[in-house]
Amino acid sequence: MLEVSPVRAFSDNYLWLIRAPNDRRGTVVVDPGDARPVEAALDEQGLALRAILVTHHHPDHVGGVQALAARHGVEVYGPARERMPCEVRPLDDGDIVSLADLRLEFRVMAVPGHTLGHVAYHGHGALFCGDTLFSAGCGRLFEGTPVQMLGSLDRIAALPDDTRVYCAHEYTLANLRFAAAVEPDNADVLETLEAVRELRARDGITLPTTLRRERRINPFLRCREPAVHAAAEAHAGTPLPGPADVFAVIRAWKDGFR
Ligand SMILES: [Zn+2]
Repeated sequence: MLEVSPVRAFSDNYLWLIRAPNDRRGTVVVDPGDARPVEAALDEQGLALRAILVTHHHPDHVGGVQALAARHGVEVYGPARERMPCEVRPLDDGDIVSLADLRLEFRVMAVPGHTLGHVAYHGHGALFCGDTLFSAGCGRLFEGTPVQMLGSLDRIAALPDDTRVYCAHEYTLANLRFAAAVEPDNADVLETLEAVRELRARDGITLPTTLRRERRINPFLRCREPAVHAAAEAHAGTPLPGPADVFAVIRAWKDGFR
């Protein structure tokens, strides 16, 4: 199993460190929004940075890229369709990031919605999905449409059940509170909400999650479930013909949910 550890940054970001399977020190960082905590983690753990992977252009994901790339002289991989803070190896859907000397390989998935050029990295049973899928939630639609985001989530949901999902933010507790409002009778949501409440009270980390778990608790992956469909219709006060309409309603509902 891939060894991955979180670096906390800002108020609720996780910058993920991926360890090379064949190299005690070799490390890849995903979405380094801030260079300082990454440098501190590398020093503390005696690791050597070998590459940087970026999912999308938001500052809390790219803020540390330039400094880290310059200091460590490493290649940056990022979405072809977005403006990056420095030169990157441009990636689009279906591309393979092959870090042969580290025995790491990831398939690139285009997952538009949160931003238009957003990519995710899938490999070794793990998914690094930036701000596309969160545990029990999904990213806001800053640039894309509900149809685009639902398409991206559907593609992610088609990956194997035991895929470990490394999301970029600790939003799980707030997301589960919303999931419980959408599906008050979903026992998996209520059980997970209790467990996550306890974990967060101890400042624990709720990630990675798995797709098996997300399919049961994430309302945005459950737009085709009758209970979620009915809740969205009740909230909208109008019939909703398809899953993209359901998705659009619950996304807007969540945006205003406190
Ligand atoms: Zn973002």
